[in-house]
Amino acid sequence: MAKVGIIGAGSVGATIAYAALIRGVAREISMFDIAKSKVDAEVLDLNHGLLFVPQAKVDGSDDVEVLRGSDVVVMTAGAKQKPGQTRMDLAEANAQICTRILPDVVRVAPDALLLMVTNPVDVMTELAQKLTGLPWERVVGSGTVLDSSRFRYLVAKHCNVAVQNVHAYIAGEHGDSEIPWWTSATIGSIPLNQWSVDGHGRLTAADKDAIVKNVKEAAYQVIQGKGATNYAVGLAVCNILEAILFDERRVLPVSGLLRGFRGMEDVCLSLPRIVGRDGIEAPLPIPMTVDEENGLHESAARIRAVVRGLGY
Ligand code: NAD
Repeated sequence: MAKVGIIGAGSVGATIAYAALIRGVAREISMFDIAKSKVDAEVLDLNHGLLFVPQAKVDGSDDVEVLRGSDVVVMTAGAKQKPGQTRMDLAEANAQICTRILPDVVRVAPDALLLMVTNPVDVMTELAQKLTGLPWERVVGSGTVLDSSRFRYLVAKHCNVAVQNVHAYIAGEHGDSEIPWWTSATIGSIPLNQWSVDGHGRLTAADKDAIVKNVKEAAYQVIQGKGATNYAVGLAVCNILEAILFDERRVLPVSGLLRGFRGMEDVCLSLPRIVGRDGIEAPLPIPMTVDEENGLHESAARIRAVVRGLGY
């Protein structure tokens, strides 16, 4: 069984550790945070629950050595959005943190796959790849896995069906320019654009607009109410960890470097990709409309501008 290293023992890092423990994702979870009392307390609290989860070991430290031997290192350290802030507003502060930590991470865990969660996640994923020189397949951003889950939840609720039967992706930036892919979305293999089932309604243009608005504002709404988003992202990241560590080859809208996809090159954004033990594969050739493709290009331009602004 694997070792998962987590950088950052804040709301997101600690919740990923908690979800990973409950789901039996790894035999060993090691947390690193510069705030020693915080990481020690989280590790203690998690250890007190070990009786109730699949067998595992949890430790933590303010020394990066604790990540040695990790199979996957999840990066969650950094500033989070304050009410009203966009994810892109965090770029400069979090780029500095990545620049400081990631070379040490590669030194102690050279074989680890890097899973970026720190926002703006697409920018940080590209930065991480460039800073570490790791192969593009081994630097993954949590991307729009969370946004797609919010999207599927809202569609499922509207149509009164199980969320697991909704197949739909949010693509592009994990942020304000993200794009809903209605064209390829289905419920039980019926294209969502044709959905009209007695007792389960249909999706009008106004319904779709409301759902997309809700997805885009979801994080702002949660942050306004409780200061951070943690549970859904914790589960979403566990889903990615399982795909990697159990070599599931699951199709997930993760962020990763594009190396020539519909005219986009050298930029990280989310598209459905097969995820397994060796990381990510090239994006799947999912059909899209001209508007959806244009949306992707706009997302790419936004992300690229921020990365270039950071000097990369
Ligand atoms: P938080 O403030 O609760 O925790 C951040 C932790 O990082 C703190 O414990 C802090 O001590 C630690 N830290 C800061 N600098 C460090 C360093 N140099 N080395 C090690 N640790 C360091 O924040 P949070 O709510 O856990 O959010 C963390 C990040 O995750 C934010 O950037 C947030 O925007 C992002 N996030 C991403 C998603 C996603 O879907 N990608 C979802 C939610 C949050």
